[in-house]
Amino acid sequence: LSERLGGVFDRLTKAGALSEDDVKTALREVRTALLEADVSLPVARDFIKAVQKKATGASVTKSVTPGQQVVKIVHDELVAFLAGEGEPGKLKVDNPPAPILMVGLQGSGKTTTTAKLAKRLKEREGKRVLMASLDVNRPAAMEQLAILGQQIGVDTLPIVKGEDPVTIAKRAKTQAGLGGYDVYLLDTAGRLHIDQELIAQAAAVRDVANPRETLLVVDGLTGQDAVNVATEFDDKIGVTGVVLTRMDGDGRGGAALSMRAVTGKPIKFVGLGEKTDALEEFHPERVAGRILGMGDIVSLVEKAQQTLEAEQAERMMKRMMKGQFNMNDLKSQLEQMQKMGGMQGMMSMMPGMGKMAKQVQESGMDDSIIKRQIALINSMTKQERANPGLLQASRKKRIAKGAGLEVSELNKLLKMHRQMADVMKKISQKGGKSMLKQAVS
Ligand code: GDP
Ligand code: MG
Repeated sequence: LSERLGGVFDRLTKAGALSEDDVKTALREVRTALLEADVSLPVARDFIKAVQKKATGASVTKSVTPGQQVVKIVHDELVAFLAGEGEPGKLKVDNPPAPILMVGLQGSGKTTTTAKLAKRLKEREGKRVLMASLDVNRPAAMEQLAILGQQIGVDTLPIVKGEDPVTIAKRAKTQAGLGGYDVYLLDTAGRLHIDQELIAQAAAVRDVANPRETLLVVDGLTGQDAVNVATEFDDKIGVTGVVLTRMDGDGRGGAALSMRAVTGKPIKFVGLGEKTDALEEFHPERVAGRILGMGDIVSLVEKAQQTLEAEQAERMMKRMMKGQFNMNDLKSQLEQMQKMGGMQGMMSMMPGMGKMAKQVQESGMDDSIIKRQIALINSMTKQERANPGLLQASRKKRIAKGAGLEVSELNKLLKMHRQMADVMKKISQKGGKSMLKQAVS
């Protein structure tokens, strides 16, 4: 796959901004990669469409091809999308005893995952955990959980033959309360395929248990089918999180993307084997890399971007050393600041800027101000940027108007620029090379 991609990307070597054609060509390959990773077709299509909008017009880092740049954009979008909000690996288990309901198809790994989670809650969070099997369909299912419980030193609800799942759930609740447990896990029965009886049963259990978390356990190796399962469970039962099992296998894990897209629910854990400690919190970067199968391209682009940023910083430093600091420099500073979490953060790191950082804070300078300042600089001509001394009243008016802002705001920007230029000059006169170097590196 990588070779085939390499070929396509070689043909796309125009520099500058990504054209619609660049993006389309590269995304065709990305689409194939997604489908090969078992991402469901409609999900792949929607995802590509969303990225297409974002990527068109984005700039291309020097020394990478547009195609490579698109892959990096796709990768970043994929990571962000997979991650969503909330912290992976965390479950709501306050207000003891907290019920956790495990649902999913037969063989997806519910019972194994129940034991893995119990072990994790016990060992990492010091919780007292009770496990109960509600699987009355398969003869040995309850014993399976009891044996796992013994292995990991977690209590299981005593087995009473002939009870239905709702009765067992009630008993688990009572027992969890009386026994002083922090968490109780309800391991339900699954079917090979989703059917209404199974759903009705799970819904009845949910109603008596009122779970804090309902975790859908999905086999990470399944592709298209996983989507229907997830939709059905989420619609009828209401899922709070997903656990993807068998991520130790050869599959590319496209189910992760499908799950997120269809349910919008976070992926909390990943199962990485049959043993009770083979459970990890979900790492979006790892799974994104696997789904795309283009990790080498992504790291290539990252490296190129880092190199470019370092080059820019060095160039700017050299100019500063010579006491040159024009509006273009200020603009790239402002853009850098945006990236680094605002003015105060950046200035407080620079020697001689401490006082200004304080002023900035007092004047309530925040990211929206940085945005407006950049707009003002964008509204200047090339000559004006290179030589802000040119700015007389009429030019100021034009610039402010162009940015949709008041002249007073432009004056503030110019004052700030003068102050900064002064500081730069002083530093360079003092020969404070090492100081500046420190600040920039
Ligand atoms: P259930 O029917 O949903 O309760 O599924 P089980 O927990 O009984 O698991 C079915 C099979 O899948 C068992 O043989 C498990 O050992 C295996 N299994 C579960 N999770 C994983 C996993 O993350 N990786 C691998 N390789 N096997 C798993
Ligand atoms: Mg089971």
